[in-house]
Amino acid sequence: MNKEKYLFGPVPSRRLGLSLGVDIVPLKTCTQNCLYCQLGLDATQTLERKIYAPINDVLVEIRSRIQAGLKADHITISGSGEPTLHRELGRLIDEIHRLTSIPVAVITNGSLLWRQDVRADCARADVVLPSLDAGDEQTFRTLNQPHKDIDFAKFVEGLCQFRMQYPGPIWLEVFLCQDINIDSKSIENIKKCIDRIKPNKVQLNTAVRPTAHAHIRAVEPGLMADIARQLGHGAEVIADFPAEKTGLGGGDALSILEMLRRRPCSVEDLRSGLGMRREIVQKIVTHLVHTGQIMPENRGEKTYYKPTP
Ligand code: SF4
Repeated sequence: MNKEKYLFGPVPSRRLGLSLGVDIVPLKTCTQNCLYCQLGLDATQTLERKIYAPINDVLVEIRSRIQAGLKADHITISGSGEPTLHRELGRLIDEIHRLTSIPVAVITNGSLLWRQDVRADCARADVVLPSLDAGDEQTFRTLNQPHKDIDFAKFVEGLCQFRMQYPGPIWLEVFLCQDINIDSKSIENIKKCIDRIKPNKVQLNTAVRPTAHAHIRAVEPGLMADIARQLGHGAEVIADFPAEKTGLGGGDALSILEMLRRRPCSVEDLRSGLGMRREIVQKIVTHLVHTGQIMPENRGEKTYYKPTP
């Protein structure tokens, strides 16, 4: 049985290739409570930086994976909450660099980058992937529901300051939701912010997976492409990761449940992420549905599975 507490994957990531996830804060401990979050409705919202997970224990797990011949394109600090809330994020990145040449990525909502210590920690990573889903205070409050002490101007200023300080790649994700942040004024405002932040990449995402709030709807592919053109900066719509690139070691019902605890997945996601045969995944998923452990949810033409609440 897998006894790891802080690692998941490697899983195919749309942005980072094959990615070993490192989870250093408890489930949905975050500075925000986004409407599109896949981690459930209620965030433990905080701005307190502290040691949520003992970094030495996290490093024991990473070291053991590396010794077992880890193959991954990135080691990604992200997971089930906001990783910059961990006070020893910078130290963790440095220690991973001592163990391996696999690049370290940090996925963050970016809302703490106005803090000098958070910028210094993130600057140790090989690539940083922050988010910007709104170009104005009101949309920020509606869509991202940040902690009351984060205001929009401070948030964008943090991203700009990080850009000035960090010479490495910044890949900015913009999450678009139908009827919330895609009208022409919203896109114009987001573009103005991107012009200031000057990220290396702009990557557009939308709600293709089930979200905490069922009313959140995905933006149609054609419209996503139009918005990418409007935003400029070579903005790209993030495509699904090709399943063929994976094929790493085995898995079973526990691995499937573990992966679904991180995010809703289709059978194909599970197959490619866990390196299992499709018919085996299908059989286990059917069993888990019948026994009430997971439930299906349809999104467009695809069916995703998630743990039953
Ligand atoms: S920033 Fe990420 S983890 Fe936090 S609420 Fe938003 S989507 Fe969920």
